[in-house]
Amino acid sequence: MLVLIANLGSTSFKYRVFLMDERGGVVVAKGGYERVTDHAATIDDALATLQRDGVIDDPSEIDAVGFKTVLGKNLSGCVIADQKVIDALDGFAAVAPAHNPPYAAGIRQFGKSMPHAKLVALFETAFYQWIDEASAQYALPKSWREIGIRRYGFHGASHKFIAERSAELCGRQDVAEISQRLYLDGPAPVAGKPFRVVSCHLGGSSSVTGILNGVAIGTSMGFSPQSGLPQNNRVGELDSGALPYAMRTLGLSLEEAERQLTKESGLLGLSGVSNDVRDIEAAANDGNPDAQLALNHLAASIRHWIGAYMIELGGIDALVFTAGIGENGPRLRNAVCANLENFGIKLDPDKNAACRATEADISTDDSPAKIFVIPANEELVLAREVYRQISNQP
Ligand code: AMP
Repeated sequence: MLVLIANLGSTSFKYRVFLMDERGGVVVAKGGYERVTDHAATIDDALATLQRDGVIDDPSEIDAVGFKTVLGKNLSGCVIADQKVIDALDGFAAVAPAHNPPYAAGIRQFGKSMPHAKLVALFETAFYQWIDEASAQYALPKSWREIGIRRYGFHGASHKFIAERSAELCGRQDVAEISQRLYLDGPAPVAGKPFRVVSCHLGGSSSVTGILNGVAIGTSMGFSPQSGLPQNNRVGELDSGALPYAMRTLGLSLEEAERQLTKESGLLGLSGVSNDVRDIEAAANDGNPDAQLALNHLAASIRHWIGAYMIELGGIDALVFTAGIGENGPRLRNAVCANLENFGIKLDPDKNAACRATEADISTDDSPAKIFVIPANEELVLAREVYRQISNQP
């Protein structure tokens, strides 16, 4: 079965085509477009490229298209991407404005451009459906909770891949299998010792998730992608009292305050240099104190959440770094792991310095907990769930 995974932004379209069977999948083609103005023409161009490159003879050979949808109102999981998915995305368009509108539009467009293909959505929130209510709820009046304000969590496909892969790397095939089948069977009991992971997805958008026996128990991301760790341009966690105070004191409209919190905050806002850790590190090396502050703030926020999940999990077997910063940033990994030896987390500085964008164990040989760098592979999780969803369809 050929599955095309569509990664959609408001002006971008990236894709990977997987050849899937019951044992797993391999990537047979990938490509991408930036500065997209006409999504229909771009999809046609991608299909023509796949034909020209001999991946397919005809677009009808693509059996399914998978979408990594972020946040749906009253909808999560892995589902056929029909009108109810579009309605759920539209219902929370204001909560995830950078993500939901392109996916709603993309699903509509793929439905027109590839009418023969089954469309499947895997919500980023799906991995968090088993989180305890006590961790998922905010202390809000009932009327706020009734309109869907609660902790949802994001980067679900990425953290789920880490749950599976870290279990494999630690020889816990039992946990890896539970995690791989999670959306089919739900959580399952584990014979023997519990397997405890803290997964740090650190990229343009970042989150930390605690994982017990392959299942998320909590995550730093909350109601919207505007929460938890400082993001590239988004503030991350902010006291709700700060918003009305800033609006009144600075004379900001709600729209302007929102714009500044989503476009001019986070690593960009704090460093005053860039939203990219590479630029911020270069500026810090040149002695820019705000750049150093942004790096320190990011590391402190990550440590805050690692500590929280180590308590919840009752310890840690693997600490994992993934995504752009996590995979490529030895300096940040070093800052995050500083002085954690007493908690059983011992970083090997040489292994850490040598590791960039490859899978590696960067802990010392005597570290009780493993420290892994694992390249993100959200698309594989998505392709597998799409394959299963389609295989179960008549
Ligand atoms: P992602 O969203 O996972 O693609 O991650 C993108 C982010 O990774 C960029 O904004 C950078 O902050 C970060 N990044 C990429 N390469 C490096 C690097 N060599 N060192 C540190 N950070 C990096």
